[in-house]
Amino acid sequence: MAKILDGKAVAAEVRSEVAAEVARLRGWGILARLDVVLVGDDPASATYVRMKQKDCAEVGIESRVHRFEAHTSQEELADLVERLNADTAVSGFFIQLPLPEGLDPLALLSEIDPARDVDGLSPLSVGRLSIGLPSLLPCTPHGVIQLLRRSGVQIEGREAVVIGRSNLVGKPLAQLLLRENATVTVCHSRTENLPEVARRADLLIVAAGRREFVGAEYVREEAVVVDVGIHGREGGGLVGDVRFDEVEPVVSHITPVPGGVGPMTRAMLLYNTLQAARAAG
Ligand code: NAD
Repeated sequence: MAKILDGKAVAAEVRSEVAAEVARLRGWGILARLDVVLVGDDPASATYVRMKQKDCAEVGIESRVHRFEAHTSQEELADLVERLNADTAVSGFFIQLPLPEGLDPLALLSEIDPARDVDGLSPLSVGRLSIGLPSLLPCTPHGVIQLLRRSGVQIEGREAVVIGRSNLVGKPLAQLLLRENATVTVCHSRTENLPEVARRADLLIVAAGRREFVGAEYVREEAVVVDVGIHGREGGGLVGDVRFDEVEPVVSHITPVPGGVGPMTRAMLLYNTLQAARAAG
């Protein structure tokens, strides 16, 4: 039976560290504040933003939401980014993605000051990460690394296979694993013999966005499996990219869905906001 990598518990640990540090900063007169740019009326985005605000409140970080109609112009949003970059009361901010059709997210991300880029997704932050300069790290990949580290899983020297090469998860995760001195293979939809490549992994990170597609043929004993995928289940609840019931009996460690990477992603946004507040203060 595999050891469960308990993202819920580790995220709670991160949140309590952040809360203590936020309180310490407040004692010095430095207030941590996270601003969110929310455009359009996508219900999932609105829910995510509400959850993030609730998380902020729990650790003593102030949060503000800048709401815009779906038909808002690129220029109006670019102006806001410029104002948020210049506002010393704002520790960090992010644009909730996806943006409505017709808006160019990359152009906006490119304007975010890396010191305030709490999502770590701007081209400058991504570039800094890839050449080893300090930067705010993308929340999901950083959450995966923190979960492994804090659960006592060795990364250095091990074979890591990442399934997925998105800008949001797969690519930055590969960079972070490299930084942790893993040997990294990145797989994607055109990879041949995927199960065979995946079976090489000591650390198998699955971020393909395909419901329950990784089964027992993708893993070997002693593998550590991290499931980044999130999919709603008919009748409620969530499942990941991994067939948990089939893989769990084979491997040494595995993340559950829910309760694995999801809570870590949320915790790392708070962590980044704290980092940004500290750096500015
Ligand atoms: P994406 O769709 O942008 O990228 C998926 C990647 O997987 C692509 O690079 C693609 O080449 C690869 N891929 C797709 N099908 C494949 C296949 N059959 N074999 C091999 N590779 C394949 O998705 P994303 O934004 O990277 O997100 C991936 C998953 O993680 C989604 O389920 C998403 O909901 C979830 N997610 C979870 C969190 C979290 O906090 N837990 C955060 C972000 C994303």
